[in-house]
Amino acid sequence: MDSKRIFDAIVVGAGFGGLYTLHKLRSLGLEVRVFEAGDGVGGTWFWNRYPGARCDIESMEYSYQFDEALQQEWTWSEKYATQPEILRYINHVADRFDLRRDIQLETRVTSAHFDDEQKKWQVTTEDGASYIARHVVMATGCLSSANLPEIEGRESFGGATYHTGLWPKDGVDFQGKRVAVIGTGSSGIQSIPLIAQEADHLTVFQRTPNFSVPAHNRPLTETEVSERKSVYKEFRKAMRDTAFHANFRYNEANALDTPPELREQEYEARWAAGGLPFMASFADLMFDAQANATAARFVHGKIDDIVEDPNIADKLKPNGVVGCKRLCVDTNYYATFNRPNVSLVSIDEQPIDRIEPAGIVAGGELHAVDIIVFATGFDAMTGAMSRIDIRGTEGKSLSEAWSEGPKTYLGLCVSGFPNLFMITGPGSPSVLTNMLPSIEHHVEWIADCVRWMKQSGKHTVNATLAAQNAWVEHVNEIGDLSLYPRCNSWYLGANVPGKPRVFMPYLGFPAYAEKCEAVAKGGYEGFEAA
Ligand code: NAP
Repeated sequence: MDSKRIFDAIVVGAGFGGLYTLHKLRSLGLEVRVFEAGDGVGGTWFWNRYPGARCDIESMEYSYQFDEALQQEWTWSEKYATQPEILRYINHVADRFDLRRDIQLETRVTSAHFDDEQKKWQVTTEDGASYIARHVVMATGCLSSANLPEIEGRESFGGATYHTGLWPKDGVDFQGKRVAVIGTGSSGIQSIPLIAQEADHLTVFQRTPNFSVPAHNRPLTETEVSERKSVYKEFRKAMRDTAFHANFRYNEANALDTPPELREQEYEARWAAGGLPFMASFADLMFDAQANATAARFVHGKIDDIVEDPNIADKLKPNGVVGCKRLCVDTNYYATFNRPNVSLVSIDEQPIDRIEPAGIVAGGELHAVDIIVFATGFDAMTGAMSRIDIRGTEGKSLSEAWSEGPKTYLGLCVSGFPNLFMITGPGSPSVLTNMLPSIEHHVEWIADCVRWMKQSGKHTVNATLAAQNAWVEHVNEIGDLSLYPRCNSWYLGANVPGKPRVFMPYLGFPAYAEKCEAVAKGGYEGFEAA
């Protein structure tokens, strides 16, 4: 890249959010530089290359809609796209919109400091170089900061270790190997069936069982692709008015008002269709524990049907609320435990004592393995930003500002950090929606704000503390109406020891989009512009 040091905007991250931000800000005539730690574009889909990695939102929805020609010309091959196909798509977008010339790869941002006098940001990268920009956009991803558990002796292990979110490009050969997978979230549940097919023996270490529904993935037919494309714009517009921003075929009836036979029929139909729309079976599932228990019983019944050994089936049955932790979507997950080369260690009964050179010791017993896969998730929503030394006005650090949990205005900005924008930050619907339209919504809102600043001669926008406090309170109030705060999920930061327990996403599409629009139309209400 050239040695230019001064830009209008710096974007951190070249995933879906960063690429579209670059495209959009360029269209306003801004000079933009994107810094990306990886040696390729793709963000989440660059790093998560583990076997079976696949999106749990249908491919024709988990894609950009900002450009009609793009969505018409790209053809997805399967209902749920694999990681390699999504990565090909992202690379296609980077080329199609000539984005690469402003993306600096293999460059990790280490700090971003606001200069109160210049009213600009100074951004420093790992190699010590510094850059100046009026605007900074953190497109760092919600699930990008790998969480490696602090298990005694982890470093002493004699074999190879991998984290699903940092998977090697050349893949991993499991043939003839004894493998341990720690973690049974979406990444574990997707990779376990494929690792089991290859490995000599697979031992799964499960701390908390998770609810999972079948994906029933399949190739897309030419007819369904062309039918969707013929109404793509209208379809996307209709999705914008739904809670998840996706085609979940919402049933407005409550589970508890529905006679038990009809309820079972609905669950059966959703199970047969597969995927996350299972959560839209009834309107009260995430708001009424008794309603949710009907769904939990249904899934328990399915686990009993699939898993041959009743003891193992019992261990795989989650207690608690379906969807409280992100519902998993699988291909043959529960059936994998019928294989003779797969064993399950329930950490409840046999806690992991330590890792030794030869393997994992749990409940006093050594499980000798050659490879350990950590499918142990992420320091979600705040992790990537916390790893950067971000300082706003008067040198105030973001880590301090967020020491009791993240506080934002609209999940887009933080009071005291002028012109610093986040894509799908905490306090926005983000991970509770189809990420792609939520990313596009944020990028477009930010671009509109920057355009407004240019037109009205403003150099800075800064969320007021009052607007931020009111928003944080509102996000908490809405979250508390639901069942989400009831389990130890990454939505609450509960998977990372010591992280403050705060429900981070905002449960409230499409009202959220209306609020963002009203803020903009009202001359950026809740912001001080100077
Ligand atoms: P995750 O859902 O946070 O799951 C991590 C797993 O590791 C959990 O089972 C957790 O147990 C376990 N774990 C964590 N620390 C542990 C420790 N010290 N000892 C033992 N077990 C430990 O992470 P993920 O599976 O990577 O998924 C994260 C999110 O990424 C998903 O919820 C989803 O939103 C997204 N994702 C999506 C897809 C897809 O589109 N299909 C695929 C992968 C990921 P506990 O439950 O007890 O904490």
